[in-house]
Formats: sequence, structure tokens, C-alpha cells
Amino acid sequence: MARVRGPETRLLFSMLRPERRAATGVLAVLLVALSLRLAMPALLGRFVDGAIAGRSIDALVQIAGMYVAAAVIAEALQLVVMWGSLHLSWRAGNRLRERLLRHALRLEMAWHGKHSPGQLIERIDGDVEALAIFFSNVLVHVLGNVVLMIAMLGVALFIDPRAGALLVLSAIAGGFVLIRLRAAAVPAREAEREANAQLYGDLEERLGGLEDLRANGAGRYAVHRLHVNSSRSWHAARRASFLGDGSYAVAAATFAAGSVATLALGFVLHDRGLLTVGQVLALFRYSEMLRQPLERIADQLKEFQKALAGARRASWMLATDPSITDGPLGAEALPDGALAVRFERVSFAYAADSEPAVRDIDLEVPAGSHLGVIGRTGSGKTTLGRLALRLWDVGEGRVTIGGVDVRELRQDVLRGRVAVVTQDVELFRASLRENLTIFGARAVSDDELTGVLRRVGLSTWLDAQPEGLDTQLEGSSSLSAGEAQLLAFARAFLADPSVVILDEASSRLDPKTESHITAAMQDLLAGRTAIIVAHRLATLDAVDTIAVVDDGRIVEHGPRDALAADADSRYGRLLRVADRRSIIDEVVQ
Ligand code: ATP
Ligand code: MG
Repeated sequence: MARVRGPETRLLFSMLRPERRAATGVLAVLLVALSLRLAMPALLGRFVDGAIAGRSIDALVQIAGMYVAAAVIAEALQLVVMWGSLHLSWRAGNRLRERLLRHALRLEMAWHGKHSPGQLIERIDGDVEALAIFFSNVLVHVLGNVVLMIAMLGVALFIDPRAGALLVLSAIAGGFVLIRLRAAAVPAREAEREANAQLYGDLEERLGGLEDLRANGAGRYAVHRLHVNSSRSWHAARRASFLGDGSYAVAAATFAAGSVATLALGFVLHDRGLLTVGQVLALFRYSEMLRQPLERIADQLKEFQKALAGARRASWMLATDPSITDGPLGAEALPDGALAVRFERVSFAYAADSEPAVRDIDLEVPAGSHLGVIGRTGSGKTTLGRLALRLWDVGEGRVTIGGVDVRELRQDVLRGRVAVVTQDVELFRASLRENLTIFGARAVSDDELTGVLRRVGLSTWLDAQPEGLDTQLEGSSSLSAGEAQLLAFARAFLADPSVVILDEASSRLDPKTESHITAAMQDLLAGRTAIIVAHRLATLDAVDTIAVVDDGRIVEHGPRDALAADADSRYGRLLRVADRRSIIDEVVQ
């Protein structure tokens, strides 16, 4: 069709390839419908010529009957074509949605940090919808009309080469104008969708942080941002619309001029006795019908521009390779049971031009032992956990689990053995059972589920739920922060991990609840390696070793008891000065 090459065209074809058979079927029905529509003006011409020549009423009624039958059947077949193309385009669209979503899930945290959820939704849903709409229309309107147009030109040329040639010329001029202007409008469409993605992305973020915004009186700022984004989006939409609709108007005018000229020529030829009235009428109908397809195509231009812009962004996203890829080793590379975690001369910065978040980390957590990590805000504690889980790759050095470099392992194997519980608990709008088993991804019996819930101290809460494990959770908002946290513990332990990273995981619990579950936690952590990041020192009473992190470095590391007994150690000082209260930040130095 148009002068389109590159990854977006490949994407469009790859979407349609599995639908080849369905598309062929739809095309076949379409061709029959088009032939009928093509026959109609010829029938009309024969009817008029027949009437002028004084043919019998029966013969005329027969022609009229054929005309009506052709019209009715063509419309019915058109419906079948629409239904078929809609179905195949949605199937193709859903396949692409799934592909994009899978790809997005494979992309590393650094990529997700740069793209807001709103942008992702726009990409996976908005762009794909534009593509699906385009596909359903491309068959019915664009392809059908192009074929119809070519056939009509053929028939017009057959009736009279001069009038036909004039129609061909006007169609070529109209088509040329359309294609040139379409190309000019694509970047504007792209800018429009990008501005919309920004608007929705920002809005989503603001709504997500509604409580914080309200509490801090930042509502006015949020509204101001909304104004700025909406204005940007409006300007982009106006420009895109101007360029898109402009191309429609210019092409329609070009074509209308051609149609008028053809009609005038038809009259001249009739005057000279070269054409019958019926033939002029048929040519006139063809010239009118020729206008329709081009206008339809122009209508679809908008969708085509949107689809092309969507396909381009989707193919960009698909072309973004995850920088964190699977290593060659599978589950067999790791021994059963608890696994040692080792950081060997590890340095890492979140961005190439930023200060390292951790540097020269040498740390060993032997299999089955529990390490407590303390340090002031921003010192790099969370980063250590992320590196162990390979949410980011280390800059220098290496992190090993069970003696194997985490980069050598398949990611699913690594994440199957290492569990992380952070303060940010993500609960889904689903039943309690689905929340715990991650929608059935883990085969766990109800008895095991209730057992783990009791062990983390949620038995009273569970008993109060009338529907038990079938209770529907309304995301994280239907539970108190502490209860959500306990559910997160339960979920982590159901996976039977070998290494557990608890990152401030108990900081939302009140001291009483925390001490209540400490025993249960010890029980759950037994036989597993644990890295426990805590601000509250009491949380770390039972760990084997303590590491103090400061400005990305380990500044102290040793057995907890020895450090506690050493009055000069940072940890010992903290214990005494802070008197087991959580004011580490002031005193770590
Ligand atoms: P806290 O006690 O507040 O949780 P932390 O010790 O866990 O702090 P980290 O989250 O590891 O600290 O952060 C270490 C450094 O890395 C900080 O300077 C922080 O600003 C930076 N940092 C953390 N996450 C990111 C990120 N996603 N992108 C860029 N920089 C980050
Ligand atoms: Mg942290």
C-alpha cells in the first residue's frame, strides 16, 4: 500500500500471519460482495437503455429485480465481512497485547523506572486497540475499496477509454495527494499519543499518591501539572487533527474535480453519439462510486496514522532487549536447602553518571545463617537485596547464591529460591487464596494456607473473615498496613524459599505485634538463609551476624553477640545509646 517499510510494517505482518486463513476467507466473501456492487451501475445503464429502446416490461422488471437482489446480497455479504474482520483483528490484537505484556515483564527495573504504568497501559492497550481497529477496517474499507476502485476503473475503460482514462488520472492524483499528506501527518499523531500517555501517566501517579498529596497540601501543584499536561495534549491533538483532516479535504477536492470532468466528458461523448444515455449514467455512477472508496480510505487514514504510530512504538518496545537476561544454569545448579549468599567486591550505581549506591561490598552470609543489616537512610541496604535478587546487575564484582553467580542462573530459578518481603506490599483485587498462591501459580492446599496464616499470627483475622480463604481483598486498602505485611510474609514463606530477604518488612507492625510474630518468624526462618534489613534493633535480636552499612560501604561486620558485647562497636554503641529504640539514623556515624 503506502511507502511504509521498517519494523512497524514487519510487526503488522507478523500480527496477521496467524490469521492468514481467516483473512483469505474474509477476502473471498469481500470479492463476491464487490463484484455485485460493481455490476449494479452496469445494470442501471442497461435498464435505462432498455427503457429508451422500448423493451418489454417483463425484461425491465427482470433487470430491476437483479439490481435489487445484487444490492441486498452485497449488503449482507458486507456484514459478514465486517464480522469476520472484526474477529480476526481482535484475535491479532490480543496476541500482540500478550506479546507486549510478556516483553514488558521481562524488561528490567531500570526500564520500568523510566516508564510510568500509564505509559505502559497506553502502549499495551491504547496502541494495540488502534492497531486492531485498523485491521478490522483495513479489510472492509481500505482493501475492499482499493479492489473496487481498480475494478471500476477497468469497467469504465471498457465502456469508453477516454472517460475511463480521465477517471484513472483523477484517482491517481487523489491517491498521490492522500499518500503524501498521510506521511506528513504520522509524526503529529505520534506526538499526540505521546502527550496523552504523559497525561495519563502523570494522572495515575497523582491518584496513586492521593493521600500523600492531600496530607502535604500538594493538591494545587497536582492540578497545575494536570493543566500543563492537558494543554500539551490538546495542542498535539489539534495539530494532528489539522494535518490529518487537511489531507482528507485536499484529496476529496482533487477527486471531486476529476469526477466532474469525467461527467462533462460523458455529456460531450453522448452529444456526438459515441455513448448511450445508459452508458453515461453508468459512468456517472462509477465516478460517484469511485469517490466513495477514496473518501473511505481517507477516513481510514486517521486510523492508519494512529495504527502506524502505535505499531512503531510497539515495535520499539519489542526491540528493547532486556539488559538482564537468563543465564544458562537451571535448578540443578543449586543444592537443596539453605543457600549461602556472597557479595564479592561488589560495586553498583543506578545510572552510569550517578554516584555508586554500594561500593566494594565483601559480605558472606553462610547457608542457614541470619544476617541483620542496619544503616542510615539511603546507605544502600535495599540495593543489596535488589542485587541478590538480580533486579539490577552489579557494576563490578559478583553476587553468588549457593556458590553460583546470579548472572549464570535462569531468572525464574533464582527468584524461585530467593524471596523478598519489603514494606511495599502489593495485594491484588482477588480472593485471599489467589493472593497467597499468586492466582494458582503455586499448588498449595487450603490447609497449608491456613497453617501459614496462623503461623504469621493472622489466625484471629482469618477467623473474622466470613468467607475464609474466599474473602475478596480490595487490593492493599482493605487491610491494615500491619495485616497486609503479615500476608506478605505468609506469601513469601509459601514459596519455601532458600534465601529470605526482609527489607524493613516488620517496620509497619506495632512493637507488640512484632514481638508476637518474632517467634513465628524464627520458626519460619529456620533452615533458611536470611538477610534482615531493620531500623528497629529489637528485630535483629536473634540474628547471627550484623552488618552496618554507611554510604554504600560495609563499615562493620561481625557476630551479633560479639558486637553487642563490644562497647566500641557501632552496633554495641547503638544498642546502648538508642536503648533499643529506632533512632539509628542519628547515631550510626
Ligand atoms: P532506606 O533506609 O531509606 O530504605 P536504603 O539503605 O535502603 O535506604 P537504598 O534504597 O539502597 O538505601 O538506596 C541507596 C542509594 O541509591 C540512595 O542514594 C538512593 O537515592 C539511590 N537509589 C535507590 N533506588 C534507586 C533507583 N531506583 N534509581 C536511582 N537511584 C536509586
Ligand atoms: Mg531501603
